[in-house]
Parts: sequence; structure tokens; C-alpha cells
Amino acid sequence: MAIKVARPQVGFGVSTYVGEIVKGLALTMGHMMKNVVTGGRRMITVSYPEQKRVMPRGYRGKHRLTLRDDGQMKCVACQMCATNCPARCIKIVASEHPDNSIEKYALSFTIDLLECVYCGLCVDACPVDAIRMDSGEYAIIGTTREEFVINKEQLMATQPQYEDERHPMTPKEKK
Ligand code: SF4
Ligand code: SF4
Repeated sequence: MAIKVARPQVGFGVSTYVGEIVKGLALTMGHMMKNVVTGGRRMITVSYPEQKRVMPRGYRGKHRLTLRDDGQMKCVACQMCATNCPARCIKIVASEHPDNSIEKYALSFTIDLLECVYCGLCVDACPVDAIRMDSGEYAIIGTTREEFVINKEQLMATQPQYEDERHPMTPKEKK
């Protein structure tokens, strides 16, 4: 049975938009005056790209590969991240490691950032905390498709946004 929904009754100010326009303008003018009085210190906008916003913890930015104490990549090339990736944008070539104590490692590891949907499932799937998205990097610029396919070296060189998330530190940084 169809239910009849009564049309809400609105006053003159709402039906002509005059009242709402005045309210909107008052809000905008209020913010402008606040910025004038405080010298812009309370402005919520930043002058990008000269100024870059510090992203909150948990923000999913450009990926990075974490390092072991000896500075090598933590990744054991298990392919869990690539298997879980809904965009199928992670490509890993696994290889035997010259060090017999390490079963295998990623000979090559690439992520196509133009295909990535920044869901974070690769980070969740990793059993050894080898991949993170805590770089805080949100502006990734390039002029060709190839520039957006980041490789192992670029992923290993990417740093976390917050110092206390740099784990583990490289031997050089520990000194
Ligand atoms: S963030 Fe999501 S889409 Fe991007 S590489 Fe990870 S799993 Fe794939
Ligand atoms: S980053 Fe993690 S999940 Fe992906 S292959 Fe390496 S160890 Fe496995």
C-alpha cells in the first residue's frame, strides 16, 4: 500500500531562499572577519603547494616498503598483498635470496598508482608488516603513465610521515 508523505510546510524565507541566502552570506562574512581579525592564523585552508598539510595518522598515502635492521627489505615475497589487491596493481617477482637464512625475497616489486584505489588491503594482508601507506604523500605527480608505476627502490626509499613510525630504523640511523 502506498504511503502518502505530506509535503513539509516551509515559511516565506525558505521558499524564496532569501533567508537562507542571508544566513549563508552571514556565515561566510563571519569566517572572513575572523580571518581578518586573527591575521589568518585560524584559516582552515593552506596555500598549497607552498604549504603542505600534515595528514592525520591512519591516512592512506603513497606506499612504502619497510626495512629490516640490516637495511634490507622486510618483504618475503609471499604475494599476499598482490592476491588481496582488488585493483590487481601490485606485481611481484619472487626470487631465492643469496642469504640461506632468508627463504625468498622480492626481486622486483611494483605498484601502479594509477590503478590503485588506496583501499589499504595490501597493508592489512601483509603478515610481516612489510608494506605501509603511512608516508602522508598524497600528491604524486607525473606526465607519463610509467612514472606512476613505482618500483622496489622507490618504495624502499619512501619515508613515513611521522618519525615514530620509522620502524625499524636502518643501522645508519641508529648510530
Ligand atoms: S591500496 Fe588497495 S588497491 Fe592499492 S595496492 Fe593496496 S590493495 Fe591494491
Ligand atoms: S609486502 Fe608483505 S604481503 Fe606483500 S609480498 Fe611482501 S611480505 Fe607478502
